[in-house]
Amino acid sequence: MIAPSPMALGPVARDDFPILAQTIHDQPLIYFDNAASSQKPIAVLDAWQHYYRCDHANVHRGAHTLSNRATEAYEQSREKVSQFINARSPQEIIFTRNASEAINLVAQTWGLSRLKPNDEILLTVMEHHSNIVPWQIVAQRTGAALRFVPITADGSFDLAAYQRLLGDRTKIVSFVHVSNTLGCITPATEIIRLAHAQGAKVLLDACQSVPHMPINVQELDCDWLVASGHKMCAPTGIGFLYGKERILEEMPPFLGGGEMIAEVYLDHSTYAALPHKFEAGTPAIGEAIALGAAVDYLNHWGMDAIHAYEGELTTHLMRGLAELEDVTIYGPSHRAGLAAFTGPRGVHANDIAAMLDQEGIAVRSGHHCTQPLHRSLGLDGSARASLYLYNTHAEVDRFLVKLEEVLAFFRRVL
Ligand SMILES: *Cc1c(COP(=O)(O)O)cnc(C)c1O
Repeated sequence: MIAPSPMALGPVARDDFPILAQTIHDQPLIYFDNAASSQKPIAVLDAWQHYYRCDHANVHRGAHTLSNRATEAYEQSREKVSQFINARSPQEIIFTRNASEAINLVAQTWGLSRLKPNDEILLTVMEHHSNIVPWQIVAQRTGAALRFVPITADGSFDLAAYQRLLGDRTKIVSFVHVSNTLGCITPATEIIRLAHAQGAKVLLDACQSVPHMPINVQELDCDWLVASGHKMCAPTGIGFLYGKERILEEMPPFLGGGEMIAEVYLDHSTYAALPHKFEAGTPAIGEAIALGAAVDYLNHWGMDAIHAYEGELTTHLMRGLAELEDVTIYGPSHRAGLAAFTGPRGVHANDIAAMLDQEGIAVRSGHHCTQPLHRSLGLDGSARASLYLYNTHAEVDRFLVKLEEVLAFFRRVL
């Protein structure tokens, strides 16, 4: 076992998360399902409650004090998100319900208006369903074709295959920054550069990177980026789309309604300027404000520190898993803070997860919204442990001990 570093973020940060201080089946809760959704710190819960207790009114249309406060806090959050990923301006940040809605927004506006028969949409086989299904719908409606970059033998992005698939017909490349199943980190800067050299647009699914590492959209040069608030310490019901201003300007609106208009006549309307053009109806105001508080919270520790700490914790987890008999880990050794694995043949991942739950340990089991990837690996599911800044080396140790006990049980009964 390696000693925890002196910069032990987890044991300190976890005091900020009230939900973690409980027992499940009389055992201290170990929450290792962070890739599905993270827990929320007091600062975020307080910001959300403060808004509803003191400042709630609808945004953007009131002359009264509460409406002004709500509008100011809502727009301040946009500014915080914008700075967090180094966008050029807050106009480039569109609040959505989640990352899925953000991808659908791009698919339904840019995709439907720009794609034609024989155009190609290039994805990867490891995409989350949210980055596959919206493009299938667009492909069916436009006649464009879907192409998929495979993974390498060790479970990483296959750059050579990508270069062969990329061509004149490729109009958009939409891919995952960190796979929520393999944990691999794709060479995003290179992928984006190559796509742009072919004249293709690029959407980056940053759901598993934005919460865990510093992200700079100007350096990455992606045309769009999507993320979900609930995986980065914010509530559910809020996510965002980043888009380059010039591209967002050219995109037709997504949903119609209040907030997104300039003038409405009975037979036609003109649309609001960015970012409001894409935010029809009353938004999730409290949730957006809480997302701003989540950004403040992550900045308080610093994304470099969070990334470094999770890297150490991941090394510890991976070494421990590798020592266990009958455990197969999917994805490369250099990875983000998550590990999908299976036990001995004949043992279902759901049974492993259910037995770990009896020990107070929360891991996910199933296809993790990557059915095509699981199918290509010959699996019907896997178990997945995923880490965040509040997890500790001691939790990883206890997880490894309990997992070994679960596996020993199955060895006896099989
Ligand atoms: C979670 C996730 C999504 C979808 O996020 P929602 O919040 O469910 O919309 C998309 N892609 C990846 C890689 C994810 O991990």
